[in-house]
Amino acid sequence: MTTHDITLVSGHGGMPAPEGVLTLKHLIDGAWVSSTSGETFERSSPATGQLVSQAAKGTAQDVEAAVRAARAAFDDGRWSETPGSARAKALSRMAELIDANCERLALYETMESGKPISQAEAEIQGAADIWRYAATLAWNIRGDSQNALGPDMLGMVLKEPIGVVSIITPWNFPFLIASQKLPFALAAGCTAVVKPSELTSATTVMMGELLIEAGIPPGVVNIVLGYGDPVGGLMTTHPDVDMVSFTGSTAVGKAIVAATSKTLKKVSLELGGKNPQVIFPDADLDQAADAIVFGVYFNAGECCNSGSRIIVHEDVADALNEKVVALSRKVPFGDPLNRTTKVGAIISTDHQSKIDNYVKGAAEDGAEVLLGGAPVSVEGLAGQFYQPTVVAGVTANMAIATEEVFGPVLSVLTFSTFDEAVALANGAAYGLSAGVWSENVHTCLAFARKAQAGTVWTNTWMDGFPELPFGGVKESGLGRELGPNGIDEFLEVKTVQMRIGKTRQTWV
Ligand code: NAD
Repeated sequence: MTTHDITLVSGHGGMPAPEGVLTLKHLIDGAWVSSTSGETFERSSPATGQLVSQAAKGTAQDVEAAVRAARAAFDDGRWSETPGSARAKALSRMAELIDANCERLALYETMESGKPISQAEAEIQGAADIWRYAATLAWNIRGDSQNALGPDMLGMVLKEPIGVVSIITPWNFPFLIASQKLPFALAAGCTAVVKPSELTSATTVMMGELLIEAGIPPGVVNIVLGYGDPVGGLMTTHPDVDMVSFTGSTAVGKAIVAATSKTLKKVSLELGGKNPQVIFPDADLDQAADAIVFGVYFNAGECCNSGSRIIVHEDVADALNEKVVALSRKVPFGDPLNRTTKVGAIISTDHQSKIDNYVKGAAEDGAEVLLGGAPVSVEGLAGQFYQPTVVAGVTANMAIATEEVFGPVLSVLTFSTFDEAVALANGAAYGLSAGVWSENVHTCLAFARKAQAGTVWTNTWMDGFPELPFGGVKESGLGRELGPNGIDEFLEVKTVQMRIGKTRQTWV
């Protein structure tokens, strides 16, 4: 397959890249500080190779200082005892500031991640809405009461902030994912230590700047930049941390569960996915093909919700493949700074090789590469790009059918009966999301009930709302973000039992 079959956007004519290199520091107890070691690490654009940022490289002492600040800020009540209404106002101010700074945030999100600028802008706007929604929850923290325990007893159930939370995020949606955690933790009254991915630190630092402007008191949000070792690791083992909220790979999620077991912290995990979309023979194939192309190429497939696994009825498989390949050829990919681009660069050369190995392995195992299947160069850009790729004839035993490829690569499997479709859909260790396409609502609902997934989309793919909970089952995670559940994750339940009057008999 030649690159002439796909739609490349060259590196000429896009919006200008920022000049200079951004210096990024830790935010500890309200101050911007360098690493105690003085060391830094660099991030270059995966699309162009341009040096974008130079960040403080966190040490054990930096983590210690950040946790100490968060602990003190929680224990003295400067945030946890602030009325919910006041917390809500600060979160709403933050939403306004995010909107006002959207352009700059989106530009650096694109520069470090390689995602298209128009998509980065939409993500920043979506993040602002999440902060706005979390503010409403801060107004509404309610417990419960039990008034039927007998004439001399009243029970109350209080919701309290869990304490100091470590928030650890990945590189694929840096600002958005931090915004699925931090505003809910803050709405609950918690304090936090945040660590962004070492590949995409810039916009989390900018979030810290905006939080100061929004009036969040010093020490309430601390940011430590750096790697899993030592920064992330210590954030999960430190005895003064009460909870770890992590988004990232299933392998690191499992390591975090093991690490936190020594101090039995609460853990919430948003992990990987191998998300199936099942297409029944009565589906609207044009609609399905459009959603499939969006689902697999959005964020270059570097997306936990990537709809990377199509399970199509054998009677319509050829017709669907034809439509998907035709649309895939049209997807504009290339320069992330060009507004027409829909698919940008791959995050790193190592990751590009991993994607390519999955495709080559599937071809060796007998699958058929209908489109793409190789890296591609884009004129004027020095970074790494991978062709939109469609692999048909995939069978359940192939690695590409069950493992997270995390690239613009679609695997197509076929089925003949409903039960077979369900078995294939549930045949991966993951359980993040699933989709079903049929004009028959009974088929859609029957599938939705059987699917082992945290979210099921019927005749659509990857819609998301701050109001609706999101999370995974099986090896895709523990707990839920967003919706009312988003704040519950950061609240502890305390039971208070009160005797009324002096009716109690003495025990002896
Ligand atoms: P990753 O697991 O390699 O890293 C995630 C974060 O954990 C980074 O900040 C990293 O520095 C840190 N880390 C690494 N080792 C650590 C350790 N031992 N202890 C503590 N922290 C550690 O993931 P990634 O490559 O950055 O992101 C891609 C993965 O994230 C994919 O698997 C994807 O599916 C998943 N993801 C899931 C969701 C979701 O909501 N379910 C959303 C986005 C991404």
